[in-house]
Amino acid sequence: MGKNNNEIVVRDLERNVEDMREYFRSRNTREANWRKFQLLRLKAFLKENEGDIYNALFQDLGKNHVEAFRDEIGTLLKSINYALENLKGWMSSKKAKLPAIALLSSAEIIPEPLGLVLIISSWNFPFGLSLEPVIGAIAAGNTVVLKPSELAPSCSSLLARAIPAYLDKKAIRVIEGGPDVGELLLQQKWDKIFFTGSARVGRMVMSAAVKHLTPVALELGGKCPAVVDSLTFSWDKEAAIKRIIVSKFGPCAGQACIAIDYVLAEEKFSTTLVELMKVHIKKMFGENPRESKSMSRIINKQHFSRLKNLLSNPLVKDSIVYGGSMDEHNLYIEPTVFLNPPLEAAIMTEEIFGPFLPIITLEKIEESINFINSRPKPLSMYVFTKNQALQRRILSETSSGSVVFNDAIIQYAADTLPFGGIGESGIGSYHGKFSFDAFSHQKAVARRSFLTDFWFRFPPWDNHKFQL
Ligand code: NAD
Repeated sequence: MGKNNNEIVVRDLERNVEDMREYFRSRNTREANWRKFQLLRLKAFLKENEGDIYNALFQDLGKNHVEAFRDEIGTLLKSINYALENLKGWMSSKKAKLPAIALLSSAEIIPEPLGLVLIISSWNFPFGLSLEPVIGAIAAGNTVVLKPSELAPSCSSLLARAIPAYLDKKAIRVIEGGPDVGELLLQQKWDKIFFTGSARVGRMVMSAAVKHLTPVALELGGKCPAVVDSLTFSWDKEAAIKRIIVSKFGPCAGQACIAIDYVLAEEKFSTTLVELMKVHIKKMFGENPRESKSMSRIINKQHFSRLKNLLSNPLVKDSIVYGGSMDEHNLYIEPTVFLNPPLEAAIMTEEIFGPFLPIITLEKIEESINFINSRPKPLSMYVFTKNQALQRRILSETSSGSVVFNDAIIQYAADTLPFGGIGESGIGSYHGKFSFDAFSHQKAVARRSFLTDFWFRFPPWDNHKFQL
């Protein structure tokens, strides 16, 4: 959709929204066949436009096509297949029981679509974060308006151009634009707003939703810690470090909500940790990572400057133990490791969202629990340890959207786990059946026979004694 068309769509938003509501009322989107067909068409979009998707991701983010397949196309195809395999079961009503007081009765829970939903997404996984919720919204039988992020313009325009050619135009629309368009969209009445982005805009979404009592899902970010125990053998240390490096610098050069933000490790392990990190950064991205084709670029100059400013504190700069070079022209930042930057510096108080990895040392790894608990609840926590007692303490004494032991990021690809935050890292969850539920209302249905009733149901009760 071109800019002019887009303006027309926004100007006519109210009419568009009303048309889409009308279409929802036609009940087409409730049909299982309609849902299946749309999911199959979404699959066709991904397959038939694979090359264009790689190009758009490369233009906007310098994403390597392997990363693009792993994190976006491949993950989406897997999610669509999972939804297609399970749709019948998800859509079916579930039997329920009524209490004995309702004699001769039956009950069931029927999932019904919410109606017209708005999805606002982010730029770092422009296809994944836009289409993963669309899969859930379609599977649940809704009509959908999707607004991708303006910061990944090639991806946004590919979605807006191609999606209408594949999906039912009356039910699924892509509207391009930035905050101004987002604000206009938020003024409309929706049956759900599903937002992926910053806590700052998340708050605006929530206040706009108040007007119509619209339910919201907020998929936000924050600082995801990795607790790294000293581990026992050289091979598990190596495996842990490789997973940490790829979960920091791998997904979109650290511009990922579930990327490791910082590492907590024992002081006595820090030298080994740093040395192993240097080895594996070099193995993955070469002696000169600027030449590497496996390293994404920073999304734009504004984010580049934000990251550069994190180094303006001399104490932060002095704590660099690896990397630190930057090239503004190419929006490139080298994978950079810091050892004990000041805790009050922005690099340790704000979400980094880039290829900087601070390591904070503690005397005992168990202190990581208090460290994490004294900060906002993270979206994800990664704990590299074989110590079962520490694993149990982490689970019972900390709170986060998810916890992964001995790896990172993999939870994103799981259809069987709810993906979402808690506290400042978000509200609500999705993926797999959780996506279907996120866009469904669970309607409670009770049925009774006319045959009988208990006496105490109906007054007058004056002459009755009631004993427990
Ligand atoms: P952002 O909040 O700036 O933008 C997100 C979306 O909101 C974009 O589509 C943008 O156009 C729109 N928007 C911006 N201002 C708006 C306004 N005033 N009204 C309505 N819409 C508006 O965030 P971002 O830069 O796209 O993403 C970075 C943040 O998102 C990070 O904090 C990151 O952790 C988080 N994030 C979370 C997830 C997750 O799944 N939990 C995934 C990716 C990113």
